[in-house]
Amino acid sequence: MPIRVLDPQVISRIAAGEVVERPASVVKELVENSLDAGATQVSVEVRGEGGVNQLRVIDNGSGIPSDEVELAFARYTTSKIASLDDLGSLLSLGFRGEALFSIAAVAEVDIVTCTADEVIGSYLSLKGGEVINRGSQGRSPGTTVTVSHLFRRVPARLKFLKSPTTENSHIANVVSRYALAFPEVRFRLSIDGRETLRTPGSGRLLDTMAKVYGLELAQNMLEIKSQGGKGGVLPMVTGMIGSPVINRSNRDYISLLVNRRWVGNRRLVWAVEQAYHGLLGVGKHPVAVVNVSLSPQEVDVNIHPTKAEVKFRDEGAVFSLVQRAVRNTLVELTPVPEISKLATTYRIAEPGRGISTATYLSPSLPLAQTPAASLPVLRIIGQFRSSYIIAEGPDGLYLIDQHAAHERIRFEQIKEQRLHRQVEVQGLLEPVTIEASPQQKERLRTRLDNLAEFGFVIEPFGEKTFLVRTVPALLAARDWRAMLRELLDSAEGKEDWEERIMMLIACHSAIRAGQLLSDSEMDELVRQLEQVAIPNTCPHGRPTIIRFGLGQLNREFGRT
Ligand code: ADP
Ligand code: MG
Repeated sequence: MPIRVLDPQVISRIAAGEVVERPASVVKELVENSLDAGATQVSVEVRGEGGVNQLRVIDNGSGIPSDEVELAFARYTTSKIASLDDLGSLLSLGFRGEALFSIAAVAEVDIVTCTADEVIGSYLSLKGGEVINRGSQGRSPGTTVTVSHLFRRVPARLKFLKSPTTENSHIANVVSRYALAFPEVRFRLSIDGRETLRTPGSGRLLDTMAKVYGLELAQNMLEIKSQGGKGGVLPMVTGMIGSPVINRSNRDYISLLVNRRWVGNRRLVWAVEQAYHGLLGVGKHPVAVVNVSLSPQEVDVNIHPTKAEVKFRDEGAVFSLVQRAVRNTLVELTPVPEISKLATTYRIAEPGRGISTATYLSPSLPLAQTPAASLPVLRIIGQFRSSYIIAEGPDGLYLIDQHAAHERIRFEQIKEQRLHRQVEVQGLLEPVTIEASPQQKERLRTRLDNLAEFGFVIEPFGEKTFLVRTVPALLAARDWRAMLRELLDSAEGKEDWEERIMMLIACHSAIRAGQLLSDSEMDELVRQLEQVAIPNTCPHGRPTIIRFGLGQLNREFGRT
């Protein structure tokens, strides 16, 4: 093919692809526009197919003068900068003048807008990037943008979208982050007619956190002892961080804001996590909303069309500022002894470290293929550190990780019960309410049937609470709330959802590391382990049992 200039329509679709990746990107751009327009109320309505059918953002911001409305949809048209120099003092979220143009290239758009000076507002409809209708319409000052049939003419993009539940949860995520970044703004999110989030707009971050994440979490937040900003000079770090008693199994609860723009800067997220070093267990992550305010000259937001990434002039300085702010807050507000205590707890939990000569019974060994006889008869010798069972077999010494082993036993048990639809259920005397963030709520709502099959009978109850009526009998005396939380925070698609539920029930109902066991309890555990089909790994694939062969021990001691 000879080189040619692309058709303008093709160009605009290609360009739109950079800005509009999925329904949540549209929401992000429109919400940013509302915030730039000084809105104190922003309402997001999502209707059908995870927002593909319709998305609407309504604000009470400045509005667009009627003679500029059409221009707003042209490419590179913005009221936020006039020259390159303005980037150096940029405090608005937008400036590239691409969003409305890009959205109109891949969807049908209607806008109704009115400024405070105008008697009557204006409306404009676009299809395929072309204006198909315009006129006057009454409206209180502000703007309503309705985006319909997103990607209808871009089937390739449509194919890449995930399930409506997942797309809705991305949208809930975007709205939650901006609600956290702008606590003085009242946000409302409704998905398919259900109100998923409503924030008070009181200006207090804690009030917004309570709405987004629930009261329980909000009660355990610490206000950052603001760092920097001496004499009102930037940079400065502010926000709230979770006390170490709160932890989550992923990083979704860390919101990093730079001049109140939500950014995904891995190094800064890491700075926050580093500050918790020694305070959280392995694989656990903190909850935090951290805002770095700094002079626009110190940060370049123009490195990606979605502006989700930023570049700092002095990244190292920002990194240590954030780390210090978080660390100082933690050290001052949490008792120090916890640090060493926690550190030893998870040292115990690392199985098999440093035993270089141990043979791990990998599933490929013949042992695994003969279920009933897969483990030799073992004689229990004792328990080490309340975590490992020491046993003797015909061909060597065995160390069993009691938690991992019991996890495997439980997992098989649950699978069996589920297969025969004989899951044992424990009714709660009083139904218990649990709170869910907007994102969790979406996940929970669509999985209620699934959960019921495993013994969790849960019903929606109010704005963001659910009523738990029964729990799996195996978890009745355990912290099943923590289990549910972990389940709802785990990213989708990694494993099959049922598998994930089984793994978590197994993990949370299993004997813990650090629990002292009697001889008969150890006997029972080993006997049960002998019965399961795959005795030598836990459901996560870690070993449950390690063997030190006699020959190997003899060699180690120089006996051969
Ligand atoms: P940018 O935000 O980068 O300027 P956009 O394409 O998102 O580019 O918007 C173009 C222009 O339309 C903005 O600069 C602003 O003047 C106007 N605009 C868009 N949305 C709104 C809104 N909700 N309220 C007021 N003005 C808006
Ligand atoms: Mg914009």
